[in-house]
Formats: sequence, structure tokens, C-alpha cells
Amino acid sequence: MPTTQEHIAVDKIKAAIREIPDFPKPGILFKDITPVLKDPVLLNQVVDYFYYQLKDKKIQYVAGIESRGFILGAALAYKLGAGFIPIRKKGKLPGLVEQHEYDLEYGTDTIEIHADAVEAGSRVALIDDLLATGGTAAASCKLLEKLKAELVSIQFLIELEFLHGREQLPTLVHTHAMIQF
Ligand code: AMP
Repeated sequence: MPTTQEHIAVDKIKAAIREIPDFPKPGILFKDITPVLKDPVLLNQVVDYFYYQLKDKKIQYVAGIESRGFILGAALAYKLGAGFIPIRKKGKLPGLVEQHEYDLEYGTDTIEIHADAVEAGSRVALIDDLLATGGTAAASCKLLEKLKAELVSIQFLIELEFLHGREQLPTLVHTHAMIQF
């Protein structure tokens, strides 16, 4: 039976997310989505959930943030009939890149996108598994801005609301998370 919007069991998806304390470092409660990804019904519902969020928005490209944003983003792009664009950690993309450096708790990080990844004015949806402090997603928005893309929507599977990451994101862009903790 095909999934309809009403059949998507957000509570079941939330219950399947596994919490791993102190990974990748002490003090971080890691939200592990691999139990969701390995369940054929839940994986189908997650992708369909994003599809229903975006299906009427004329999305040309889904940009996924390394690495779990690739898994969700590629499946979503296929379902939307859109293309997929990877946003990667520094040094991973082979072509000419645009890059953006952003602050971490200690130090900085840099992410990159291919300079020719999208044509100016293209309608893009950005996706990642989880919004924490918002640094990674905000940097990704900057990269899409450099390419003059039209960022239509930002989608997350999980939002850690207590970290207020949403405040880092462009206020005018439709931003949505399926599950809140
Ligand atoms: P941030 O830039 O702080 O919003 O962090 C977001 C990125 O780090 C996403 O790509 C997430 O996959 C990852 N991340 C941050 N915190 C967690 C967490 N508690 N559990 C799983 N992934 C996380």
C-alpha cells in the first residue's frame, strides 16, 4: 500500500532513534538514526514525509549535508524528480569549489560545494539529519547563497530545540524539522 501523508507515524520514527551517550566525545548524546534507516517501513515514511513537505515547491535540486544528509537527500531527490547536490567537508570534492569556514565550540570547520553545482536562481531544498547548534546548516546556506541559488526550504529529521540552532538560519527561508527533542 503506498504511504499517504496520514499514514506517516512520526511517533514510531521518533521512538526508533537510538541515543548513544558520549559519542563522538564525552558529553554528547548522539542521536543515531541507523535503526530508522534499516527499517524499510520507517525509511519509506521518512522520505515520504519530506516529499510531502516539498512536492509543491518546484524543487530543482536537493542539497544534502555530509554525511547523513546524503542518505536522506538522495532518496528525496529521486522521489521529487530533482537532482542531488553534495555539500562536503573540506578536501573531498574533486572540482572547483566554493567554501565557507564556520566556528565550532573549539576551533573552526570548513565545508565546500562545487562552484558549478547549481545555476543561479535554481530552486534548492537543503537537508540534513539533525539541527544542533545550526553552524553546519548556516554555513551550507552561505554556500548556496554564494552560488546565487534560491533556497526554498531547509529540512531536518531531528531538531535539538534546546540548542536554538534555528536562530542561525535565514529567517525568511521555510525551515522545518520532523522530530523535536
Ligand atoms: P550543528 O552544526 O551543531 O547544528 O551540528 C549539526 C551536524 O552535526 C549535523 O550534520 C549532525 O549530523 C551532527 N550532529 C550534531 N549533534 C549531533 C547529535 N547529538 N547527534 C547526532 N548528530 C549530531
